[in-house]
Amino acid sequence: MGLSDCSKCWETPCQCGWDYRNWTMKSLVRFRNMIEAIIQYKSNNPDACFSIFGLRNQEQTQDDKALMEYVNNKIGERDA
Ligand SMILES: [Zn+2]
Repeated sequence: MGLSDCSKCWETPCQCGWDYRNWTMKSLVRFRNMIEAIIQYKSNNPDACFSIFGLRNQEQTQDDKALMEYVNNKIGERDA
């Protein structure tokens, strides 16, 4: 169990809701918007090809980059 694991469900990120109870409304809305954007991207691109890790020094796929751009644009739109 790592420090960031939820103390109720032990998942990272929390899958049961407990870890989010003290988040601000702004953070919750931003988190929701991020998840919604990911769902939208994956719905619009059912054959998207994502890397397994995709960290800075590893090869990222076109869909890795496109997803992050899509998410950042969606979050930016709603924050404005
Ligand atoms: Zn949890």
